[in-house]
Parts: sequence; C-alpha cells; structure tokens
Amino acid sequence: MSKGDDVHELSIVCSIVDLASEAAEGRAVRRMTIEIGKLSGVEPEAVAFCFPEVARGTPLEEATLDIGVVDAAARCDVCGAEFATPDILTACPCGSRQFQRLRGEELNIKSIEVEEAA
Ligand SMILES: [Zn+2]
Repeated sequence: MSKGDDVHELSIVCSIVDLASEAAEGRAVRRMTIEIGKLSGVEPEAVAFCFPEVARGTPLEEATLDIGVVDAAARCDVCGAEFATPDILTACPCGSRQFQRLRGEELNIKSIEVEEAA
C-alpha cells in the first residue's frame, strides 16, 4: 500500500469518527458498524488500522469497529440483468457497458451503539 492511500483512508476515518461523535451527543460509543463498497476505493484493512489512532480522545475511543464489505452490483440498461461488478471495468454478461451502478461505491455508517445515559 502506498503512502498516498494511507492518507486517503486516514481522512476518511477522521470524517467517520467526527460524524459518529456528533451522533453520539457526548455519550461514549460502544460499537460502530460501517459499510464499505468494494468499488469505493477504500481499503477496509487500512480503515481498521487507522481507527484506534483517530478514535483516541474521542467518544469512540473504546468503540469496537465492525466493517461490512458490500459487493458491487449493477443493472444493465440493455438487457435489464443485475450482475456483479467485482471491478470497475466489468461489463454485463450480455456484453453491454451501459448500466446503472446499484451498489458497491458506498461508504456508510450503518449503526452506532452508545452507552445508555445513567
Ligand atoms: Zn446486459
């Protein structure tokens, strides 16, 4: 992995941690689940690696990070088939390259679990 990629993931993890901290409204976060699309260009391993460092000193400091990887899929404009697109250049089995990407480029916080207020 190049140094450039590290910086890319680091800034992504920073914004995820910011969003989750805001959503937690001052409570400690126990667990955060995020979804990373296979075509998002984000390496789940790099996110997992950056997370403890970024989370230090935030409400997510003690949080467990769960990462779900979302397989990419698209629907063909020509034949209507839904097909997997394991990489960005995959065409429909019918040969068409005109399609709508359905999923695989997302980077979402799926859920966070916070400490209950005492
Ligand atoms: Zn097709």
